[in-house]
Amino acid sequence: MDTEKKDALIGGLLLGRSVNVIAISGAQLVEEARRLHGLSRVNTAALGRLLLAVSMMSARLKADTDSVTVTFAGGGPAGNLTAVGHVGGIVKGCITNPELELPPNAQGKLDVAGAVGTEGEMRVIRDMSLKEPYVGRCALVSGEIANDFANYFLVSEQQPSLVYLGVRVEPVSGAVRSAAGLILAPLPGCPEEDIERLEALAPEISGLSGYLDEGEDLRTALSRLFDGFDFEISDEMTPAYRCDCSRERLESVIISLGERELTDIIEKDGEAELVCSFCNKHYHFSGEELTALLEQARTPADGADEAGDAE
Ligand SMILES: [Zn+2]
Repeated sequence: MDTEKKDALIGGLLLGRSVNVIAISGAQLVEEARRLHGLSRVNTAALGRLLLAVSMMSARLKADTDSVTVTFAGGGPAGNLTAVGHVGGIVKGCITNPELELPPNAQGKLDVAGAVGTEGEMRVIRDMSLKEPYVGRCALVSGEIANDFANYFLVSEQQPSLVYLGVRVEPVSGAVRSAAGLILAPLPGCPEEDIERLEALAPEISGLSGYLDEGEDLRTALSRLFDGFDFEISDEMTPAYRCDCSRERLESVIISLGERELTDIIEKDGEAELVCSFCNKHYHFSGEELTALLEQARTPADGADEAGDAE
């Protein structure tokens, strides 16, 4: 039955277009992150919540080269968590200590704040390809991730938002049962009475995880949650966990190391093994291949882009 739960990302409007809605059902993409990284239960929830949020933030990007990157550096035992999103809610992520497990917190829940930590900051890079990237940073307020995003949207982007992120896992196997996310953002000019109605709805929102867990699809679950709120769907996408690494991309990383460091690697190791931190794919480079790349590092190709400049 679990394999039939299809991921979905839905954008829409509430209350006669005064509130922007973006919602995700992402059990499969979080499960893929768990499988790739061997995530513990608490980290499945922690990185899962981050992936859901970044997928929603990336849903309406325009160009293939646009991206949203969010890093949580909270000083907790899980280390740093990073997620990168591309147009349509395609995401990838990584975490320093994927296997770290913690006992449940005082409420009997997965101790996400304990794993992530609460002392550090979150960093957001919105790269819209053509313009200078927007970089925002904000102190963490809870380490539970959803509250940190709500605080970030308010403080750094001046956008009050209601953020819900929930990942449920099987107690024994750790497999993902459901993964739900929702961001509600009142648009400028949203009447005060509508804001009050949203606030009254807030306690109900955690029910979204329950609806999805019961096997409802996202569209039905949202209609149920927003009953009486004049909910209008504007777009629907299929989010996924997908890494965009390639041999070509790693070749340019190796070239960017520069002549001296590359010569050093060839003399000391004779070869190189690179592992993608987002999908754990291994890329092996023989001494011969490294020597060819060294040649390119010495003589940048014609029309080399700005990244090809030697230091
Ligand atoms: Zn990769």
